[in-house]
Amino acid sequence: MLGAVALAAALSGSAAPRVSVQRRVASMGTTAEVEIVARTREEGLAASEAVVEELRRVEDLLTTWRESPLRRLNEAPANRDVEVGGELAAALREVLAWSERTGRAFDPTVAPLVRAWDLRGAGRIASSDEIAAALAAVGPANFRADASAGTAARLHPSAGIDEGAWGKGYGLDAAARRLAASGVADARIDLGGQELALGTSESGAPWDIDVAHPRDRNRAVLTLALSGLSVSTSGNSERGRTVSGVRIGHELDPRTGRPAADFGSVTVLAASGLVADALSTAFFVLGPDRGLELSEELRRQGVPQEVLFLVGGDTGRLRAAVSPSFSKHVARVDEGAVGGVSAGAASSLSRRESR
Ligand code: ADP
Ligand code: MG
Repeated sequence: MLGAVALAAALSGSAAPRVSVQRRVASMGTTAEVEIVARTREEGLAASEAVVEELRRVEDLLTTWRESPLRRLNEAPANRDVEVGGELAAALREVLAWSERTGRAFDPTVAPLVRAWDLRGAGRIASSDEIAAALAAVGPANFRADASAGTAARLHPSAGIDEGAWGKGYGLDAAARRLAASGVADARIDLGGQELALGTSESGAPWDIDVAHPRDRNRAVLTLALSGLSVSTSGNSERGRTVSGVRIGHELDPRTGRPAADFGSVTVLAASGLVADALSTAFFVLGPDRGLELSEELRRQGVPQEVLFLVGGDTGRLRAAVSPSFSKHVARVDEGAVGGVSAGAASSLSRRESR
């Protein structure tokens, strides 16, 4: 054990020893992989336990797959304020605001549409009438939330909040706050397509995080070198449903009520997990052209984030479309698989050469 600690210290080039503690647990409907780099194994284990606990706490708050405060809101009579607690009420206010900021490309009130298309079951083709009925209950105006009172209400009898496009991002932010409170600066949490990279990895360099091919999640097409950022990818085509030979994507356009066009995938970098998560869904719905415009507009409004669109991939090479500074975070590109983006993360590249 001591030998490993001394080796890690030597590799990191610093006097303080660094040990890496890794855990894998089922959490938030996926497998959470947690890696903590700490001074001692005990500290790393305690911090990883705190992360797992925090993810569990957030899941208990936000899940709509079983009993939870959010589920109670979704089942409450219209116009009745429900005690959901200050934290959930504040989170709802935030995601409803993100719906407005994205022109409703991201909209957590999409639950009636998720039901109409049966995205939580086998999937079904919703009729125009069913879509129209669902759309009447979709939109931020169908909810109110009061953070100081800790209450929220739905204002339409079939309105509902779906946590699928933002719950994991919220969980990552909550876990990051717990880590900061316990003095851990170096950690990585992977919630499957939704990750957080804090500080540096055991080697002392930024965390390497792969971006998968949109049609093959086991094939990395580029590697990011990240520190202090969350990364979220939307558009994994295998999460859709096929009904009578028709492919239904799991990202819906809340404005039309229909599945968004499947162009490939989109990856967003932002300091906040919630922002990265919500925006990756919004940008997927908008597609590359409108998505890059919104990214630019949000940057102008003081919302720092970077975005990578991977377009195509059914045959031949993927085409990348990126925001101006995305490539600063790219350590390595599989040039055979993707064109239009190059590596700009020099420090990470030099580390690779020394391996
Ligand atoms: P993933 O779950 O693969 O990370 P997203 O973050 O894009 O992908 O979330 C998609 C999920 O969010 C869907 O399964 C559905 O429950 C819900 N959803 C679908 N479309 C939207 C949308 N436009 N805005 C908000 N939530 C959505
Ligand atoms: Mg999302």
